[in-house]
Amino acid sequence: MTLAGKLFLGCIADDYTGASDLANTLTRAGLRTVQTIGVPSDNLALPEVDAVVVSLKSRSIEAGLAVTRSRAAEKWLRSRGADHVLFKICSTFDSTDAGNIGPVMDALRAESADTIVLVTPAFPETGRTVYQGNLFVGLVPLNESPLKDHPLNPMHDSNLVRVLARQSKTRVGLIALATLTRGPDAVRAQLADLSAKGFGAAIIDAVFDRDLETIGSVALDHRLSVGASGIGLGIARALVASGKVKSSAPSAVPDTPVGGPAACLAGSCSQATLQQIANAEKTMPVLLLDPERVVAGKDEAGRALAWAKTRINQGPILIASSSTPEEVAALQSRHGRDAAGHAIEQAMADIAEGLVQSGVRRLVVAGGETSGAVVDRLRIPGFLVGAEIAAGVPVLRAVGANNGEMLLALKSGNFGGPEFFSDALALMR
Ligand code: ADP
Repeated sequence: MTLAGKLFLGCIADDYTGASDLANTLTRAGLRTVQTIGVPSDNLALPEVDAVVVSLKSRSIEAGLAVTRSRAAEKWLRSRGADHVLFKICSTFDSTDAGNIGPVMDALRAESADTIVLVTPAFPETGRTVYQGNLFVGLVPLNESPLKDHPLNPMHDSNLVRVLARQSKTRVGLIALATLTRGPDAVRAQLADLSAKGFGAAIIDAVFDRDLETIGSVALDHRLSVGASGIGLGIARALVASGKVKSSAPSAVPDTPVGGPAACLAGSCSQATLQQIANAEKTMPVLLLDPERVVAGKDEAGRALAWAKTRINQGPILIASSSTPEEVAALQSRHGRDAAGHAIEQAMADIAEGLVQSGVRRLVVAGGETSGAVVDRLRIPGFLVGAEIAAGVPVLRAVGANNGEMLLALKSGNFGGPEFFSDALALMR
């Protein structure tokens, strides 16, 4: 990839929709940002940007592989001039005792030569706060939130100092709110103290939005930090406040309309997405796939494409696999969770590919894994970040795609308001 200028911030995200969320946050804070899918190839040309978010799918893979891929991304970002690298994790600290936050942090810290790394998943405006090292999701501690039942990374301990210490080779300390509220120099002093005592990482509390700014300014003294979009916001604001990044620089995103047919795909079964699909039925044709037939073979994707082709020239359509929790559980019990999920993701990717071959240039996708499968199949190398549809969900303009100009929106299951699909299409012209 060729870049016109030096990068001020390099980010490595452990999943695609989290990467979009971060890229959106950085853009809103005034950084011209591009999101790439994996480490970009040398021939991908980009306009001048301040930040690059390299999206990996490394949250739930084997830890050694997550380390290898994250190191490759870090090397690439540093070679483009990034002084600071943020390893972007989920704001609910999704991980297990085997990783992958600790092992990736350890490896990137060794590369960076930092003695200590600031770590926080806090993002108060989205209800993620950290107090005395304990992560709260809205009103409840992490281990009482729905994350306790997460299918891949069930979170049973809210104390992030303990959670990270189990995954990392280094000692993990705490910088509590009482220190943070005394300002950046108090944080610096405690970091130096922890580092002198042999701690290699510090969970830092954050309860209010302003706490992120203190954290961001201290993080920039270092080469590496670990956290979610909240610390990204703090770092972006610190970069703008320092005058390094000119927030008035013209947007990197062209606003010429892309036009062409538009389609929506939903593979998320979250409450929010089920409601959004029900509302979309009032404004566009909706096809509900038969999940049992999807698992049985390719015919269901073919049927969906035939249905779509007779409609896409008249207006947007929506194709969904989403079902209620009871139906999902029944399908999983018949076929296994992974096999059912994989078959449906691949069917969604087949449908996306067929739709694009039929001329679709504007595509909305609901579901994190579903989005990953679709973007991989379409072989889109990266995105410029445009207008915000809903909190954490920007309009993405594909760069370097084989199919020419394309607009996408990738929505993590629970994101977006009740009219998300029409809200997205209204901004994707
Ligand atoms: P979210 O962002 O809500 O977690 P994802 O796309 O990440 O959404 O995950 C949803 C998972 O559920 C995917 O693996 C998808 O293939 C699978 N899935 C979609 N529809 C169904 C269904 N009807 N039954 C079982 N699994 C489904």
